[in-house]
Amino acid sequence: MFRYGLRSQLAFNLGVVMFLASMGLSFLALYVEQVRDIRMRRRHIQEVARFLESGWRTHQAPSLSDQNRLRWMHRWMVTLERFRPEAALCLDERGKLLWQLGRFSAKEKVSQLTQMNRVYQSRWITRIEPDRRGEVWERVIPLRHERGQIGLMWVRWRIAVDRQEFFAYQTLLLFYLFLFCLVLLLLILLFLTRRFVKPLERLGQAMERLAQKGRSDGLDREVTRQDELGDLARSFLEMETILQAHQAAREAQLHALREANETLQRAQDELIQREKLSSIGQMAAGVAHEVGNPLSAIIGYSDLLKTSDTWGDMEKDLAVRIEKEAKRIDRIIRELLDYARPKHAKSAACLPQQAILETIELLRLQPRFRQMKLHQEIQDGLPNLHIEESSLMQVLINLLLNAADACKGKGEIWLSAYQESQEQTPHPWVIISIEDDGPGISADLQKKIFEPFFTTKDPGKGVGLGLAICQRTILEAGGSLRIEKGTRSPTGAIFLIRLPS
Ligand code: ADP
Repeated sequence: MFRYGLRSQLAFNLGVVMFLASMGLSFLALYVEQVRDIRMRRRHIQEVARFLESGWRTHQAPSLSDQNRLRWMHRWMVTLERFRPEAALCLDERGKLLWQLGRFSAKEKVSQLTQMNRVYQSRWITRIEPDRRGEVWERVIPLRHERGQIGLMWVRWRIAVDRQEFFAYQTLLLFYLFLFCLVLLLLILLFLTRRFVKPLERLGQAMERLAQKGRSDGLDREVTRQDELGDLARSFLEMETILQAHQAAREAQLHALREANETLQRAQDELIQREKLSSIGQMAAGVAHEVGNPLSAIIGYSDLLKTSDTWGDMEKDLAVRIEKEAKRIDRIIRELLDYARPKHAKSAACLPQQAILETIELLRLQPRFRQMKLHQEIQDGLPNLHIEESSLMQVLINLLLNAADACKGKGEIWLSAYQESQEQTPHPWVIISIEDDGPGISADLQKKIFEPFFTTKDPGKGVGLGLAICQRTILEAGGSLRIEKGTRSPTGAIFLIRLPS
């Protein structure tokens, strides 16, 4: 779309100025030319008149017989014709008309001339014609002889501008002036564009870059200028530096705020978790107390029944089933107690590399891991962690078994451990990540899986306490356990354990 930008404005305004200037100049030039032309014609006429007068004096007739004089005067008429007068006439000393040139009423003119006291001084009679056809110049030239005056000549010239010639000259002048103004306009535009419009455009682009990328580059040429544009570029760069400093400060504040928010969130989660723990713990303790003893009795009696000789096969089978279900209840109660019981995991120190390798060794023998491919990437020289080795192993076993379950026993697991920051800080954090290429965990489920008793497994296969216990153990050690979307496979989940050293 057409934009009435600086270039167009300059072109338009300069064009108007140039047009007006060229018009003014051409009118001025035409006027001067007109004046000059008229002056030249005047001078020409004066010279002609002088020539005629002097001609009379120097070429006097040798004899003044009437016949000679007549011939002589006619010769001058021919000479005079060459100077193109509008009108002319010649009288003898008695006032008789000898000849006339041009169409006019000679009679009237003759009477006019004879009335002038018969003393004919050489003088100009100039006047401007009312119809503006030009200036009219008249000259009365006395014809003298040593005997005295022998007659007189009257000549009239008209000084007027030749319109046709003038129009041709006017057109030519206008054409050249237009051409000159066009070239001048282009040169001025080129200069102004290079000197002002381009730098302004570059400044605008730098501002856009600053707004989009936070950096303006390429103002070197403008900065070295010693004029107002240079000042503008320098102020702009100063402003950029200040802006960048503000931006950096804001980012640092934002980062600090985010970290504080994360810490707060973690503390809040921890508090909720602890509250849950204490209520579940109380309940579990009560249940364990109330249910534990009768459950032990049931398990004992069913054991007795299954080995008794007086019972048939069907009864013994029923006793085995009772014992199995009772043991399941017992396991759940123990897990519940395990979840609720406070631990002192922070007191011990463990080498993460050792705990990870031992866990892998243990799980390799498991039937669930037979067809699983386990990749490990453990950074050398990881610092000691403030957690009991068995607790960390329990967490790792839980997560690895869950990963194998998610992959249905056939898939890949990537286990890696590394120091969070490469900088040498006194207490670096260690990250242990367990990633699988299973179906992953939807955003909805991610919010629930750390809840106690949440499971998607079939009844009898999962209790839903594994992840809750893992999280509690890691929280107790001052760390965090979170879940993210896997990066190595399109689906898959990744569990990140973050522990302080
Ligand atoms: P359980 O294993 O007894 O079900 P958990 O607390 O260990 O209890 O796990 C809770 C739920 O989290 C599981 O039922 C499962 O749906 C989901 N889960 C855990 N680990 C993964 C994983 N690696 N991939 C997909 N789902 C998982």
